[in-house]
Amino acid sequence: MTISPAITIHNLRKTYGSVEVLKGVDLEIQSGEIFALLGPNGAGKTTTIEILEGHRAPTSGSVAVLGFEPRHRAQDFRERIGIVLQETTADGYLTVRETVDLFGSYYSRPRDTDEILELVGLESQKASLSRKLSGGQKRRLDVAIGLIGNPEILFLDEPTTGFDPQARRAAWEMVRRLEKLGCTVVLTTHYMEEAEFLATRIAIMADGQIIASGTTSDLRRKYTGSQISFQIDREFNSMISEFPTVDHDSLELLDDTFVLRTSDPTAALYRLTSVAKDNDFQLNNLVVRQATLEDIYLSILDTHQRN
Ligand code: ADP
Repeated sequence: MTISPAITIHNLRKTYGSVEVLKGVDLEIQSGEIFALLGPNGAGKTTTIEILEGHRAPTSGSVAVLGFEPRHRAQDFRERIGIVLQETTADGYLTVRETVDLFGSYYSRPRDTDEILELVGLESQKASLSRKLSGGQKRRLDVAIGLIGNPEILFLDEPTTGFDPQARRAAWEMVRRLEKLGCTVVLTTHYMEEAEFLATRIAIMADGQIIASGTTSDLRRKYTGSQISFQIDREFNSMISEFPTVDHDSLELLDDTFVLRTSDPTAALYRLTSVAKDNDFQLNNLVVRQATLEDIYLSILDTHQRN
C-alpha cells in the first residue's frame, strides 16, 4: 500500500560549516508522480536528494519519505526506495540476468527479473556480459537494479546524460512505463526537454531554496506565457522600442530579432500588428510560439538572479 503524499519536506535546512546550502525547503511529492527537481549546479539538489535517500542528515526541518525519517535508514525504508546513481553499480563480469538476480536477492519481495528486463528494454541482452553493453544499455541495467527490489519511490539522477537522441527517447519511454507500475519517480536532470516530456510536476531550486514549482503549464501561465519574435527594417527600430508593453510583458532585441514575451499573445499581437500597419512596415519572420520549459526555466532563474 502506498501513502499519499510519498514525500513531505518542511523547512529543511542544511549547513556545511558556516555555509547554509539549504535555506528552508518546503516540498510535497504525491505518490505516483514523476517529479523533476531542476536547478543550476550548486543549487542544493544533490543535498536535498541525499537527505531524502537517508545518505545525509538534515541540520533542521522535517523530512518524511513514505512516512519514514530517512536518516534512520530502517530496513523497511531501504526496501521501499530504489536509487539509480550516475555511476554504474553493476559488476561487468556477470551477465545482465545474473546481475539483476543478484541485486534481487538482497530484497525480501523482489520483482520478477524477466519482467524488469522487459520493462527497461534489455530482454534481448539477458545473456550478455554487462561490461559488453553500450552506454545507454548500462544505464538501463542501472535502472533495472534500482527497480528489482520493487520500490515505491525511484530516485533517478540525470538518467540520460551523454545519451544520443535515440537512446534518450528510448529511456524516456521506459520512465513513462514506470508510471504504470505506480512507482513515484524523483528525477534530476539538466535537460529541460527531458523534464518537460516526463515530469508531472517540477520544482526549480536556486541558492538552497525552491524558487518555483508546479506543472509546466502552471509555470508557463505564471511566469512566461508565449513568445512573439520578428524582425523589422532598422529604420523602424525606435518605433518598436517604444512599443508599450503591458503587465509583465517584456521586449528584447537579440541580434536582429525582437522577442516579446507575453501572457496574452492575442492582445500583444493586435497591438504589434497595429503599430506595423499604421506606420507601414512589415514584421518579417513573425513567429508566435508557446514558451518551452527551457524558456521558462531561464526566465525564472534570470528574474531570481536580478532580485
Ligand atoms: P547541486 O546538486 O544542485 O549541484 P549540491 O547539493 O551538490 O548542489 O551543492 C549545494 C552546495 O553545497 C554547493 O555550494 C556545494 O559546493 C556545497 N556542498 C555540497 N556538499 C558539500 C560538502 N560535503 N561539504 C561542503 N559543502 C558542500
